[in-house]
Amino acid sequence: PIYLDHCATTPVDERVFEAMRPYFTEVFGNAASSSHAFGQEAAAAVLRARNQVAALLGVEQDARTGAREIVFTSGATEANNLAIKGAAAASTGKGKHLITQVTEHKAVLETCQYLRDHQGYELTVLPVDRQGRVRPGDVKDAIRPDTVLVSLMWANNETGTLLPIREVGAICREHGVLLHTDATQAVGKVLIDLAADPVDLLSLSAHKFYGPKGVGALFVRRRDPHVRLVPQFHGGGHERGFRSGTLNVPGIVGLGVAADICREHLSDETARTASLRDRLEQTIQQAGGVAINGDPAGRLPNVCNLSFAGIRGDKLVAALDDVALSTGSACNSAGVEASHVLRAMGIDAQLAAQSIRLSVGRSTTIEQVDYVADKIVQVVTDLREQQTSYAV
Ligand code: PMP
Repeated sequence: PIYLDHCATTPVDERVFEAMRPYFTEVFGNAASSSHAFGQEAAAAVLRARNQVAALLGVEQDARTGAREIVFTSGATEANNLAIKGAAAASTGKGKHLITQVTEHKAVLETCQYLRDHQGYELTVLPVDRQGRVRPGDVKDAIRPDTVLVSLMWANNETGTLLPIREVGAICREHGVLLHTDATQAVGKVLIDLAADPVDLLSLSAHKFYGPKGVGALFVRRRDPHVRLVPQFHGGGHERGFRSGTLNVPGIVGLGVAADICREHLSDETARTASLRDRLEQTIQQAGGVAINGDPAGRLPNVCNLSFAGIRGDKLVAALDDVALSTGSACNSAGVEASHVLRAMGIDAQLAAQSIRLSVGRSTTIEQVDYVADKIVQVVTDLREQQTSYAV
């Protein structure tokens, strides 16, 4: 089968895997055990990875300690939980009001809702426009004296729409409110430069950019402002006390090398995946009745979310049996539930249920794209014909 679901996860790059390998069996030391060579070697590898992640994000590196603003976690879900719960708990002196927006990933939305429902916070969930963008003016209007955190994703995982992070960051700075961004889909695909970008907390996950699953990081700004977080895991005080627990050394090494490769190839990879995505999308549009969901002028280079008039996304996915892709809607036991992201963009339930997400990646070829595009046109045409012949 052809894999066009790189927004869900990516294969581990061979170079990443080879770099990780020794850290399972030979260099297996605990990075916190500095009294012997096993621990020291593991600690040195973690230090290098910390600087590699920092380099990808434009964060200050440190040759002696490793970048001090990178906290390793088990992935973006944990990083989002630590950022939001940790910042909220550290800021109760200022207030208990949080702002987010409706198309966030569940790892942000449900964390905010937990704080609202169980910890006495007030939560403002901002709407988005038809392209899935938040209006920066809405953020400005929602900020109150007791607002402690704004959480706004860098790019949406279903549509690829880029959110106005820099504009919102400037507004947050002006009002002295922290900005967290879930950049899980954006890291390695668009340029992020935290030396300039006004973001205080940023979550990422290795498995979205050819690193291993189960490892990620949270960037925590240490200067202007110095972000305070209440840790959510207590124990041995690893990661400057932000995240206790023995470090996943092979995973962290993999994250570092994956970040390094992305940094080196960011502009070529962006150009290459965008041209594959555009080619895919252009051919598919020959089927007619195809709508692009999201912001065609401001989205990730590698993804498209398309609705096909008259055809349910799950039917289309089932008919494309040799292609791995996602429906725009999340299925649950009660049937097909239209995506909360598309619904929030004002797309009606029927059209939302007619959507699919295709995401290309590092190993995608022109031949694969052409094969899938032609097949989609053919399947869509066939399904529509069947439906009209049933109707008569
Ligand atoms: N946020 C976004 C935007 C995502 O796409 C994902 C992965 N689906 C996550 C968070 C969760 O990341 P992880 O798998 O590392 O927990």
